[in-house]
Amino acid sequence: MATYYCGPCRLSLGYAPALPSGALLQTNSQQAKHAKHTLVERSERLQSIFSDPSTATIRVEVENALSSGAMEVNERGRINFLTWSGQGVGHRYEWGTRIEGQELTKVVLSSNAGQRHQFTEAIARLGSQRCHVCGAELFRSST
Ligand SMILES: [Zn+2]
Repeated sequence: MATYYCGPCRLSLGYAPALPSGALLQTNSQQAKHAKHTLVERSERLQSIFSDPSTATIRVEVENALSSGAMEVNERGRINFLTWSGQGVGHRYEWGTRIEGQELTKVVLSSNAGQRHQFTEAIARLGSQRCHVCGAELFRSST
């Protein structure tokens, strides 16, 4: 089970990751992840695809996630950050077919500047998570 924290609580706990400096995509790994999350491939079982592949657009969501977004500590102890980006920021594809809309941007491997990358995620797949500290509901979908 992953544990979640709201933006204010994780900041007060001292989790304030560095924002990207320089280009958003700096390594071959990041270029490959960007391609995987912007280009639909029929040979991929599952993909989360950004609707707008522009790194300038995606960067705004990455910075929002890192600076004020919710934090997820997953079952392996990895720390990820999530921000509400709006309905249709991305879509889930399975074998090249669009399955559902997504609302969140998720930034993973945030502590490693060369490995950090991002993709879209659906609130419905997270379930209705609450902050581990204050109990606030994360990602109210009442927009
Ligand atoms: Zn909280």
